[in-house]
Amino acid sequence: MANSLHATAQERGIKYFLISYTDLFGVQRAKLVPAAAIDGMLKSGAGFAGFATWFDMTPADPDMFAMPDPASLVQLPWKPEVGWLAADPWMNGKPVAQAPRNLLKRLIADAAAKGLELKTGVECEFFLISRDGTGISDDADHQPKPCYDQQALMRRYDIIAEICDCMLSLGWKPYQNDHEDANGQFEMNWEFDSALKTADRHAFFKYMVRSIAEKHGLRATFMPKPFVDLTGNGCHAHVSVWRDGRNLFEDEAGELGVSKLGYQFLGGIMHSADALAALLNPTVNSYKRINAPRTTSGATWAPNSVTYAGNNRTHLIRIPEGGRFEVRLADGAVNPYLLQAGLLAAGLDGIDNQRDPGSRLDINMYLDGHSVETGKKLPLNLLDAIRALRSSSVLSDKLGEFVPCYVKLKTDEWNSYARHLTAWERETTLDC
Ligand SMILES: [Mg+2]
Repeated sequence: MANSLHATAQERGIKYFLISYTDLFGVQRAKLVPAAAIDGMLKSGAGFAGFATWFDMTPADPDMFAMPDPASLVQLPWKPEVGWLAADPWMNGKPVAQAPRNLLKRLIADAAAKGLELKTGVECEFFLISRDGTGISDDADHQPKPCYDQQALMRRYDIIAEICDCMLSLGWKPYQNDHEDANGQFEMNWEFDSALKTADRHAFFKYMVRSIAEKHGLRATFMPKPFVDLTGNGCHAHVSVWRDGRNLFEDEAGELGVSKLGYQFLGGIMHSADALAALLNPTVNSYKRINAPRTTSGATWAPNSVTYAGNNRTHLIRIPEGGRFEVRLADGAVNPYLLQAGLLAAGLDGIDNQRDPGSRLDINMYLDGHSVETGKKLPLNLLDAIRALRSSSVLSDKLGEFVPCYVKLKTDEWNSYARHLTAWERETTLDC
């Protein structure tokens, strides 16, 4: 990348840059900057009032400056005159510790100091719905088992192929697209990479999918459970840790081809799973996906307990093959940076403390989960998860001052929800 982004802009025909940061609630905030001004922004950042977005700040705080990361530049394939840049919030001359991308970068540096590099792939499920959000957009998509439905997939070819073409042109190496388990639901997969690159791509993917859906007159949602009877939007993460180009989770002699270090990392995630839920399942709605009753397709595909297995999708963690495992907890609302930061924090604790995940459970958790006496249950709602995070010494230690900031804002969000009088309450309580 040239030192001058202005020069890059002139070479590539970029007229404007979006300087974009992700706040604590996963919302992407941006300023649109003309190319002639971008080199100044590279030095001093774009100014924001942090309190106006989801940060634990006050209106009296000084300007927050979003410092663009030139390595993250993405020229919008559907609007090439705009370049998107992930940015790191700074205040008073230093990185804002609570900011998700800064937090992830710090944890990546902590891991690097131990010679470890987290690599992940994410599977972002989403629905294509009507513009008003009341239902799925395809009224012919009503099969009880719609997963991999060829006809329904191809009725959305124009949108899915356009998004996949974008990923191809950006060099993300996408390799498959499908109709998922809920009517109106899709998933698109691209190759795994280092945690920061995956987080930036995950953030951009959400922006891209929404933008292209809008262009086609529809709306995309990553909401964890937009329709009560249908399978929700998960965001499964495939995890491995590397050193000098070698996958440290790979061990042919290990159980299911996973090394001792891999099981320690896995044990760390299981140890902190209830507190991690506050990050990986960050909304009130998230808890209608996990612990949910069976959907019309026959299964929720979401976990309800803190257990792991081999190639079995009814558990929190699945080991599909040697050298990696899949964490099935996170949902579509997860903040891309907090997903990676949470997994890294809990996993590093697992290595530091040689956490033992115990034996794997090769059972169908949806049918036989009640027979497991030792398995911890996941939080039943956001408040339980926030409390678990607040009392987690592991995550407080690893995530530092981010935790009280996040707990404060999420508790406010829970209180806002709790003040809301629902139709269900009136129906069940009016005649009490
Ligand atoms: Mg899926």
